[in-house]
Amino acid sequence: MRRYNLGIDIGGTSIKIGLFDLDDNLLDSWNLPTNKSSFGEYILHEIAEVINSKLVISEIRGIGFGVPGPVAKNLVFSCVNLGWGKKDIVSEFKAILNDDEIVIKVANDANLAAAGEIYKGVAHGYVNAFMVTLGTGIGGGVIIDGRVVDGINGVAGEIGHTHIDDLYNLNCNCGKNGCLETVASATGIVRLAKEYLNHSKKSSPLRKYSDFSAKKVIDYAKLGDQVANEILDLSMEYLARVLAKVTYIINPDIFIIGGGISNAGNFIIDKITKFYYPLVKPFIQTTHFEIATLGNDAGMYGACYLIK
Ligand SMILES: [Zn+2]
Repeated sequence: MRRYNLGIDIGGTSIKIGLFDLDDNLLDSWNLPTNKSSFGEYILHEIAEVINSKLVISEIRGIGFGVPGPVAKNLVFSCVNLGWGKKDIVSEFKAILNDDEIVIKVANDANLAAAGEIYKGVAHGYVNAFMVTLGTGIGGGVIIDGRVVDGINGVAGEIGHTHIDDLYNLNCNCGKNGCLETVASATGIVRLAKEYLNHSKKSSPLRKYSDFSAKKVIDYAKLGDQVANEILDLSMEYLARVLAKVTYIINPDIFIIGGGISNAGNFIIDKITKFYYPLVKPFIQTTHFEIATLGNDAGMYGACYLIK
């Protein structure tokens, strides 16, 4: 009898496998390191080994996969972090497990983080959500009417590469300049801070450091340092401008803020909303903004949500 679902989040350094019953309860979870050798060709086999060692394959109803790259219609376009180019995980994994009946679905990890927060996290009960993950880069995930939205090229929600800044116009990993990611991710806040300090004569405790983290900027802003606050305001104004555009396109019930920067809690939400609301008035008086609650488990939960 098929009585389990699996949610599998494949990350650049580790893989998380969650075992769920058909009533959505997480029964167990397992981690394994991501083996990126030989262009990631062992990854699916090593996941299958773990599953085989724990479960009887014929008891699995469905498997959802989250991957760090663009996905559309269950086909992976590329996952640079894993060494993968185009990949049909659905067919490959069914063949590895030697079971054609298992339902397998695949989606981008940022979209699945949003799905996870709807399934078991802070957005539970909502059906339209936009999640922005402020980490090393910026990820974005879209859920509309409860469904994960990929887009034809798998880049739906990827607001990190929206061109937003002409002032500093910093170069981005994607090859363009002035992307949101260059000014509002954790690394972006640091880059913006350094540019800002170079262009300003104002004193700030940040000048004591040759190098510093985004957390340092946030900590000094919380302590009331004017320059740190000006830097964060500038950064979050860029983000707010993009979120206002998202609002006019999909008008989500809730914006979920995740990633390392979200550890700043309501302080960062207040910074974003200060700039967001003037841009969406008079149509919108309140939009829910919440900090993500599932952390690194969001993708695993979202992967299970995908096959429900
Ligand atoms: Zn970019």
